Amino acid sequence: MLFATVTAYLILFSEHFGPLAGFQYLAMALIPLVIFAGRIGLKLKVLICLMMAVGMFVYELEIRGSANSHMSAEALKQLRVLNLLICFVTISLLTFTHFVTVSRIQSELQRFAAYDPLTQLVNRRRMEQLAEQAILLSWRQQYPLSVILADVDNFKLINDRHGHPVGDAALRHVSDLIRTIARDSDSCCRWGGEEFLILLPHTDLLGAMQVAERIRVEVAAATLQALDVELEMQLTLGVAMLMPNEQLADLIKRADTALYEGKEAGRNCVVISDPQPS
Ligand code: GH3
Ligand code: MG
Ligand code: MG
Repeated sequence: MLFATVTAYLILFSEHFGPLAGFQYLAMALIPLVIFAGRIGLKLKVLICLMMAVGMFVYELEIRGSANSHMSAEALKQLRVLNLLICFVTISLLTFTHFVTVSRIQSELQRFAAYDPLTQLVNRRRMEQLAEQAILLSWRQQYPLSVILADVDNFKLINDRHGHPVGDAALRHVSDLIRTIARDSDSCCRWGGEEFLILLPHTDLLGAMQVAERIRVEVAAATLQALDVELEMQLTLGVAMLMPNEQLADLIKRADTALYEGKEAGRNCVVISDPQPS
């Protein structure tokens, strides 16, 4: 509709002022609109652009012989320059707006792809990338790297007793505490439903154990007030330090085994993975 209206006006102006006034150039400003339009198919876009190019070309050839107008040559020149300027500004504005919109959507998508929407912690996929990079650096620069795998104790009971929204609030509460306790250089991730993985570069087993113990104590000490419900929560945590040539999957498996031992031992505790398994 807009396209047809603008085209009709351009034809009218061209007829009235004559082709040398350059109103036909304004049609070029429609090209970004055609290309960016979401509802027009690719083939139709190409067809419209081709038709515009051919139309413009034929029009230019035809006007060479029949260039007569009631306006002076100087006035026509000024009008042509003005039209070219309007064409340039319109195309620039349209493409700039498009660029800004695409950039914003791109960064939103990147955020969606890397973060967990409930807790705003890094998601599992992004954590795997971060951990792989951290492991390579740890090998190359010879510094210790540890992980903590934390799991909320009896979380199913919270959901069953108080409902899913309270369960969600509880997960946000735990993730906020973990984020506060971890250093900026650590990476905190929602690894699974009620499981969190913390990656601690430059941290040995003892250091990681101290961080894990602090998280355990602070989660156990904090009372969460969520939707008129008072909740007390506890965590069981498994800690493992990267061994020479160890792969990420094996490191996490050791942390998971330690976590499982903690669950078996009665929960609400920190268990260290034996760095030299038999
Ligand atoms: P354990 O101490 O052995 O870890 O017991 P648990 O009850 O914490 O573990 P279990 O694996 O039996 O239950 C985990 C529950 O976490 C089950 C699932 O419904 C819940 N859960 C997973 N993701 C979410 C979520 O995003 N929101 C809520 N509210 N609950 C979730
Ligand atoms: Mg679990
Ligand atoms: Mg659990």
